[in-house]
Amino acid sequence: MVIASVNPTTAEVLKTFSPLGAEEVDRAIAQAATTFETYRLTSFEQRAQWLENTANLLQQQRETLARLMTLEMGKPIAEARAEIDKCAWVCRYYAEQGAAFLEPEFIPTEASYSAIHYQPLGIILAVMPWNFPFWQVFRFAAPALMAGNVALLKHASNVPQCALAIAQIFRQAGFPEGVFQTLLIPGSAVADLVADPRIKAATLTGSEAAGTSLAQAAGQHLKKTVLELGGSDPFIVMPSANISQAIATAVQARMINNGQSCIAAKRFIVHEAVYDTFAEGIKAAFESWVIGDPLEPTTQLGPLATAAIRDELHAQVELALGHGAKAFYRRSLDLPTQCRQGYFFGPTILTEVTPNNPVFTQELFGPVAMLFRVSSLTAAIELANATPFGLGASAWTQDSDEAEILVRDLEAGAVFINAMVKSDPRLPFGGIKTSGYGRELGRAGLLEFVNIKTVCRA
Ligand code: NDP
Repeated sequence: MVIASVNPTTAEVLKTFSPLGAEEVDRAIAQAATTFETYRLTSFEQRAQWLENTANLLQQQRETLARLMTLEMGKPIAEARAEIDKCAWVCRYYAEQGAAFLEPEFIPTEASYSAIHYQPLGIILAVMPWNFPFWQVFRFAAPALMAGNVALLKHASNVPQCALAIAQIFRQAGFPEGVFQTLLIPGSAVADLVADPRIKAATLTGSEAAGTSLAQAAGQHLKKTVLELGGSDPFIVMPSANISQAIATAVQARMINNGQSCIAAKRFIVHEAVYDTFAEGIKAAFESWVIGDPLEPTTQLGPLATAAIRDELHAQVELALGHGAKAFYRRSLDLPTQCRQGYFFGPTILTEVTPNNPVFTQELFGPVAMLFRVSSLTAAIELANATPFGLGASAWTQDSDEAEILVRDLEAGAVFINAMVKSDPRLPFGGIKTSGYGRELGRAGLLEFVNIKTVCRA
């Protein structure tokens, strides 16, 4: 596959890149391995300072970086700016908290000294997607580098300029040469990298297919992996919910990042007592959502990131309709001239998606909502759990008994009550079932890529 920046708003090819050859890849791994030997001995204070510098650089270059993201993958510019701010936040968070998280922990035993020491593993390979081209990388890199690891980034082939910009920022921040490198290589080259004995572990955010392929390669070589894969998050609305707030949040949670987020709300499961109000509410919001050039500050929905993603979503909607689903709402597009060649998709609401519909269990990566009517809390939870995925879940109720049951019974890596699912540097993030395993962020995320070493002195 070609490594290229294509502006999804206009379909214009911005820049193409030749993938690195085997020798260049080998040199990068050798450099990372050499750097690790000295980097692992640097102090927490020094690493924290480099992370602080990184945060400062991100904020200084915010406008340029945000624009680059919008040009490469089409997210609304306001969301791109917020993404850069969040990357600065995660760098500062680990700069401030990392040392405390990694301090040796003394555990009293019969030994004169017994403790847990946290030590870096070495080179970590990060395979990352295009949907949050900065955030996905920084939420891995900030804790990994704070722990003393070094990183190789294989970014998605449609965001090479973001990938190169990220490596440059880490270098400008003062991290030694080789601590963070970008490798412009296709997904098909990943299995060979994982087999390289100098690479100690890998993390991947992306599709189930890519995750399975990485896990297979890593399994053959007994290497640790963290996988953050797809999701089809439920958004449950019960009769006691604040309906206007639920509607406003539901639309935001579906439309965020042009609908291309793993933790976007995708299945709206609504109690019959409030179903009609909710359905009409999200329909009205879908109708008035501002679609257009994502560089315009007022735009709320830009294009999908690639023609293939757009075609795949179109095929899924047709498949759903072909199996008895109804289009409760389907917006036809009226785009400004400069956007007419772009990969836009009209917001759509599907109803009557039954369990025998193949799309019932699929992830819809774009502005398409599935709406379900239920008659009880038990039915809502059953439907919410009737998916292979288990990433996040949002549930709306003012009844604290109901909230407790939802927290207990929803099969997900995160449950948010009366709020939208979102990631936060302070809280662990990750899924269960086919949404993957392992955690990012928080202390749990930091500890994924360390050797938890038991130390005993008699
Ligand atoms: P992919 O999973 O194919 O891409 C994600 C990353 O994995 C990219 O860096 C990609 O590289 C790499 N990759 C692809 N195939 C392999 C492989 N066999 N071994 C190792 N690495 C691989 O996502 P797509 O862009 O194709 O999107 C397809 C679907 O995936 C979406 O519609 C969505 O459902 C899901 N997805 C979920 C994301 C999430 O946040 N959970 C993010 C992105 C996608 P390359 O670009 O070179 O192929």
